[in-house]
Parts: sequence; C-alpha cells; structure tokens
Amino acid sequence: MDYLVIPKKKQTPCGHCQDKNTTRCSKCDIGVHVKCFLLFHIKK
Ligand SMILES: [Zn+2]
Ligand SMILES: [Zn+2]
Repeated sequence: MDYLVIPKKKQTPCGHCQDKNTTRCSKCDIGVHVKCFLLFHIKK
C-alpha cells in the first residue's frame, strides 16, 4: 500500500523540515509538505 498526501485545514509542523504546512501523510498521520514527502519517508 502506498502512502498518500492529503490536504487538511489545520496547519501543523512538517515532519521533515519543521515548517508549517497544510498537508499530511494519511498513513503516518504526520504533517509533511509534498516536496518533503519522499525525503521524509526515505530518510532512515
Ligand atoms: Zn517540509
Ligand atoms: Zn507517511
């Protein structure tokens, strides 16, 4: 099953760069930018 980025209304810190964002990963339930999405999941 793939990860999904879904938009939300609340702003939360990005799990990768800590900046505020309005999207999150539906699987991890953690806020991430679309641009940070891959990096967030690739990093070990
Ligand atoms: Zn980010
Ligand atoms: Zn995720």
